[in-house]
Amino acid sequence: MGKHSNKEWLDLKKKISFHDKAFIGGKFCNSVSENTFECINPSNGEMLTNVANCDDTDVERAVNVSRSAFESGKWSDLSPSERKNRLLKLSRLIMDNIDEFALLDSLDMGKPVEDCVSIDVPGAAGILQWTAESIDKVLDEISPTEKRNLAIVKRVPLGVVGAVIPWNFPLDMAIWKCAPALATGNSIILKPAEQSPLSALKLAELSIEAGIPDGVFNVLPGYGHITGKAIGMHNGIDCVAFTGSTEIGKKFLEYSSLSNMKQIWLECGGKSPNLIFNSCKNLKVAAEMAAQGAFFNQGEVCSANSRILVQKEILQEFTKLFVNASNNWLPGDPLNPNSKIGSLVSEEHATKVRDFINNAKNDVELIHEGSQFNNSNVSTFVPPTIFKDINGKNKISKDEVFGPVASIIPFDSQEDAIKIANDTVYGLAASVWSDDLSEAHYVSDKVHAGTISVNAMDALSPMTPFGGFKQSGFGKDLSIHSFDKYTGLKTVWIKY
Ligand code: NAD
Repeated sequence: MGKHSNKEWLDLKKKISFHDKAFIGGKFCNSVSENTFECINPSNGEMLTNVANCDDTDVERAVNVSRSAFESGKWSDLSPSERKNRLLKLSRLIMDNIDEFALLDSLDMGKPVEDCVSIDVPGAAGILQWTAESIDKVLDEISPTEKRNLAIVKRVPLGVVGAVIPWNFPLDMAIWKCAPALATGNSIILKPAEQSPLSALKLAELSIEAGIPDGVFNVLPGYGHITGKAIGMHNGIDCVAFTGSTEIGKKFLEYSSLSNMKQIWLECGGKSPNLIFNSCKNLKVAAEMAAQGAFFNQGEVCSANSRILVQKEILQEFTKLFVNASNNWLPGDPLNPNSKIGSLVSEEHATKVRDFINNAKNDVELIHEGSQFNNSNVSTFVPPTIFKDINGKNKISKDEVFGPVASIIPFDSQEDAIKIANDTVYGLAASVWSDDLSEAHYVSDKVHAGTISVNAMDALSPMTPFGGFKQSGFGKDLSIHSFDKYTGLKTVWIKY
């Protein structure tokens, strides 16, 4: 039994109201053009509200207020302890509003409300809390120069930060960027994905109550190619932290080079391998966790372990266990607390995922398709789908599908597994299942990915850096290392 029953969530939904305006300079406001876009619940097609659609003019306005807020020092010059106190208050306010945040993200992008209330919202509040708690424990440096010289190396905020984020964990992705950017004293302009702007706007409301000064935290809903591009191209923005696809990440590098050489940090796509070795003693657990790794959040996870590499001797047994485990991840109504996965984010995305599946049926063996959840209004529900790809070289095993789809890829030896695992443009995460300690260490060293989870799935904590290698991007979210993205090192040299 979850926190609330289906009926209780439906009752809460009746009472919920949506912020639908942009948030600039501490006030909710229409976009200058007064244009809006529709916010649709993908799990039933219901129109939730119309949200302000910002363009270049609004970005200009937000940059101006962010810059003057930064230069006024009303946030950037506060002591780290004072910024900590206000961010801790924001973290508590998120938890005070947990049901509302859970509903907003679930309604906006179709994920199970139970995941939001048990994982996403507490996760966001926890990361904000940990980041806030850390900021007054970071020390500056004094370099060991010769006598009568004092070279102080300080971390200073960059100024105005743009954050452009995806829809798969709307509140979490906002916090992953805003927590370290704000803790280090920057002003921020957050652009949520057009599919999921509602929780970012609720966060804006709470930022006032938490004591974040006007102009320091701004939210601009809008389309990527307009608002996102305007943020990327603006000469008054010092840094953009982006999470999203590799394709759009590359555009931000272009925007930077065409404008002011702003710093760009990229958390992009992935196609994470999950390596299951003969030495794994508990194949049932490995199979259950493999199903979670591939199908949790409808497979709409950047680090989803969608390539499952299995040593040949255990292939048959593992496949059987994995298919069984996948039946625990069937789609259902996102507001039903028993649903393990919900709908995909939009009709457009569901069509893309189905096209991947249909094309793969011509190339590789379809092993299993889970039973469908029918909602006659929409076609956004896709059940877990499993293929067997004998060489791992087919499109379904190479491209990021971002849906509940996994390929099982057989391998002979350790070296074979490592080669297949690294045969990808991505390098975000990987899992290794082995009860042979040497094997686990050796393979973890050789697989090129930002996080390797051994006998675990997608291990994650506010204390450890998250981010990839290769075309999964660069610059880490979470942990003390996230401060590096939003600060510059300044040397003050005193001769005496
Ligand atoms: P996306 O790249 O389409 O969009 C991400 C953001 O970029 C959105 O806010 C969007 O409006 C904006 N955008 C789109 N086109 C733009 C343009 N031309 N110029 C500027 N901004 C633009 O990605 P998505 O579909 O929202 O999310 C899915 C992708 O995000 C997947 O590839 C997934 O792997 C990735 N992701 C990565 C991580 C990570 O931490 N590495 C986490 C979550 C999601």
